[in-house]
Amino acid sequence: MFLSHRLPRIHLISHFTCPKPKRLLLITSTIVSKPIPASISHFSATIDTPSKPQVTAPLPLETLFVPPDTDVSSLEISSLGARILKGSNIVLSKYAAGDGTEVVNSEFVKSSVTTEDCPSDGIPEFALVGRSNVGKSSLLNSLVRRKRLALTSKKPGKTQCINHFRINDSWYLVDLPGYGYAAAPHEIRTDWDKFTKDYFLNRPTLVSVFLLIDASIPAKKIDLDYASWLGQNQIPMTLIFTKCDKRKKKRNGGRRPEENVQEFQELIRNFFQTAPPWIMTSSVTNQGREEILLHMSQLRNYWLKH
Ligand code: GDP
Repeated sequence: MFLSHRLPRIHLISHFTCPKPKRLLLITSTIVSKPIPASISHFSATIDTPSKPQVTAPLPLETLFVPPDTDVSSLEISSLGARILKGSNIVLSKYAAGDGTEVVNSEFVKSSVTTEDCPSDGIPEFALVGRSNVGKSSLLNSLVRRKRLALTSKKPGKTQCINHFRINDSWYLVDLPGYGYAAAPHEIRTDWDKFTKDYFLNRPTLVSVFLLIDASIPAKKIDLDYASWLGQNQIPMTLIFTKCDKRKKKRNGGRRPEENVQEFQELIRNFFQTAPPWIMTSSVTNQGREEILLHMSQLRNYWLKH
């Protein structure tokens, strides 16, 4: 398991790790990796999202997510900048596949009510979770470029299930029940909690949880609690900030998504030894889509090799 609490901050502990046995991976900024393949450098240089990057100021090194086997210590600031995915703190590694952003096919596989019930073919998976209304279905549809695939998860009887969608016949996107739905009876809320947490703790093929946070509003306690729980339980996590296209009027006290994203990170800083990966997204403009898929490809390829 992670040793993050015992290590000095300079060490980067991977949130890239997987819940396979012996999944711990310690990386430091001094490990020298192979040069990044040309295809990846090329991809990072040319990757383009419909909107301009939201975070343009260079991020301090300690706030970056540096994948394992990736050395950034010898890079010039400008070369490092070119390897950070737009609107995120994620450094591209040799594990990122240039074709990682292609979703050729996607299909709903099954709804499970317990972790044991989930598909057993051993392929890697990413779980999407977030507060009701955070934009989870919209993001899922945007990732697979199908307008109504996520509706499957919203059908009566499936909203409280673990819903598996197989992508390109090789990995899963998993839609988990939304939390914090005020109208749900207390017992149901508690039950969702229990079974989702059981899934996080006991699903060996879970590569990373993608925790969705609404960037159009200030941080909510329930989201901070969720992030804290994942951190305490050493579950690899990526923060996906949603609705980054929404601009509130300043004169009404509204803050820009960038400010909310910044605040959220400051509030969770103490839950983690190193900064978890994060990406700003919008299902309206498709901002962040390629970045999420590329990040998933590097997590997946690393997981498959270890
Ligand atoms: P879920 O309950 O988490 O599955 O959320 P939905 O995907 O159903 O979205 C909830 C509401 O937020 C809907 O009205 C969506 O149109 C809206 N929404 C979702 N994503 C975005 C986004 O990126 N930008 C904006 N402006 N609205 C969004």
